[in-house]
Amino acid sequence: MILDVKNLTKTFEKNNKTFTAVDNISFQINKGECLGIVGESGSGKSTIAKMLVRLLNPDSGEINFLGKDLATANKSELQATRKDIQMIFQNPLDSFNPRKKLKTSVGAGLKYIMGLNKKEIDKKVNEALNLVGLKPEYADRYINKISGGECQRAAIARAILVEPKLLICDEITSALDVSVQAQIIDLLVDLRNKMNMSYIFITHDLTLVRYLCDRVLVMYKGNEVESGTAKDIFENPMHPYTKLLLSCIMTVDNIDENKSISYEKLQHSGGCKFKEMCPNRMEICNSIKPEIKQINNRNIRCHLYND
Ligand code: SF4
Repeated sequence: MILDVKNLTKTFEKNNKTFTAVDNISFQINKGECLGIVGESGSGKSTIAKMLVRLLNPDSGEINFLGKDLATANKSELQATRKDIQMIFQNPLDSFNPRKKLKTSVGAGLKYIMGLNKKEIDKKVNEALNLVGLKPEYADRYINKISGGECQRAAIARAILVEPKLLICDEITSALDVSVQAQIIDLLVDLRNKMNMSYIFITHDLTLVRYLCDRVLVMYKGNEVESGTAKDIFENPMHPYTKLLLSCIMTVDNIDENKSISYEKLQHSGGCKFKEMCPNRMEICNSIKPEIKQINNRNIRCHLYND
């Protein structure tokens, strides 16, 4: 096992009210495995990603990565894991310096994390650009002279260059045109076959999850509602929210990831958090929050599956 997350929790405060963005989430990832974390805006999936790389500090819980608890790691311990966990974001432009050539930005990690010299960096940058389908001349281009898809390819090149053990991809196709999204998915499938990394895909793009992921964790309002193998989840969704997510009622197009999160919507009045939208709601759902149960190799949080 490469990553073992236990009872991860994060709350935020707004207008003197506390909102639980991530509520007691646990999951594991094995070497070479690919986990998709799906859910709509406010489900807490991006908050999990930010905690894994400590852009946000968890309130409680453990992030055991290769034997070290990153939830409590100090600055130098986190620095030591930088090579092994890389993250790619939704808007790659924001993570590049517009004044620097692509080769400088892409190769920055090699200098600071791996301590390579200029000649070694140039060689590795060229190899990585080639791997993500960017021609050698792109090394001398500035980020504002390339397209959004090329920029995301450069971000992927930068992340894989240091040969991480875990690559976290946070909505990396959602800012791209549909045709470019398909190219990036093809690239990721190709890289998965070539490199023995573990992946976490934080996404509302179910196509991406279906093509790439071994297992899926479905989140709703900070809670895990269902998790299992991608095959089981897509072929036989059990939780009413998963069914809705996979049905034509709530296609990915209906989930607007760019709209700001309404913290008020994260509040709930007890019972199941999904009860307002659930077509299977029962009396018990109004007052008692369902616990996670294990049924046939999958986790599910729903009173429909009480014994
Ligand atoms: Fe629906 Fe009740 Fe299950 Fe919640 S616990 S998803 S309201 S059936």
